[in-house]
Amino acid sequence: MAKIKKELDQKIRQKAKNRCGYCLNPQELMPFKLEVEHIYPKALGGETVEENLWLACRECNGHKSKKVKATDSLSGKTFKLFNPRTQIWKEHFEFSQDKTEIIGKTPCGRATVDALQMNNIYQTTARLAWVETGKFPPKDI
Ligand SMILES: [Zn+2]
Repeated sequence: MAKIKKELDQKIRQKAKNRCGYCLNPQELMPFKLEVEHIYPKALGGETVEENLWLACRECNGHKSKKVKATDSLSGKTFKLFNPRTQIWKEHFEFSQDKTEIIGKTPCGRATVDALQMNNIYQTTARLAWVETGKFPPKDI
């Protein structure tokens, strides 16, 4: 990963409300530092500039990797992944009734949930514990 200046790193974290732009995992509940990621992957030529950076947890960033598109399970068609900087989370996703799973509401949302494995066992297990504490999901989405 490219070296990101401290000032820009802090700006991104603040703008992203210190949580993963995809699964909304909050920094305060994570045992590791959230990562400043390239929305359009650096490996594909994405630049290290504010407009192309956001915050992601290791799970989402790791599964996203170099992906920019994924398949919507409902239509079978390919869609661009969710862009946490330019798109609104609640327009594309919602939580299951028990708040442990993220459900894609749109083709983009479904493709992103699958590509980033946002409901893998590690994520849902953590959410279950967090929901019980009342600290998750974030109230301001
Ligand atoms: Zn995440």
